[in-house]
Amino acid sequence: MRALIKRDPAEGFEFDENCPIDEPVGDECQIKVTAVSVCGSDINLWKWNDVARTIASLPFIPGHEAVGIVVKCGPEATHKIRQRVAVENHFYCENCCMCDAGRGDICNKMKQYGHGKGTTQGGCSELSNVSSKYLYPINSSITDEQACLIEPMGVAHNILERIDIVGQDLLVIGCGPVGLLAIACARGMGAKKIYAADVIADKLELAEKMGADRGKK
Ligand SMILES: [Zn+2]
Ligand SMILES: [Zn+2]
Repeated sequence: MRALIKRDPAEGFEFDENCPIDEPVGDECQIKVTAVSVCGSDINLWKWNDVARTIASLPFIPGHEAVGIVVKCGPEATHKIRQRVAVENHFYCENCCMCDAGRGDICNKMKQYGHGKGTTQGGCSELSNVSSKYLYPINSSITDEQACLIEPMGVAHNILERIDIVGQDLLVIGCGPVGLLAIACARGMGAKKIYAADVIADKLELAEKMGADRGKK
């Protein structure tokens, strides 16, 4: 299969036309990737800077915000062939004090898809093997391009879930993808006034499209 892969501690990704892929084992599903988005951290991984050396291990296939269709199932897989799924890229262990407290998002033994942490698999490939428990079925009303953004939207939603936003005013500082998705989530969750701050005017226009009140009476 074709895949982008990073094997060497240097700038760039390699394009491999004949990258091998194992058969899915245990509860893994093999997905045919239909869309993958580029996160800010992928730029660090491409550059292989200090940040990348902290968050990733070689070798790995990049792309942690991925969507695909199940094409093969391991013997204990819990999804069926042809199911469309989004990948949860944080592979929490379910067996540490943080996971026990319901905080798999900050698991002590976190592995990560697309970063070479406990898996070489990533979404910048035609096929990818992922445990069933990290795959979420997607409603047919959501496009592949939208479904890629479920992971960064989860980051935004996780923040808002921790504060009682209903009827409150909100200031979002920084209108990159997570900030913009926070605006949309806050609007949907019942925030009152939503103020957006950024140093780039185009981003403030996007913020308004996503539901911020700037410029509105
Ligand atoms: Zn990301
Ligand atoms: Zn854990």
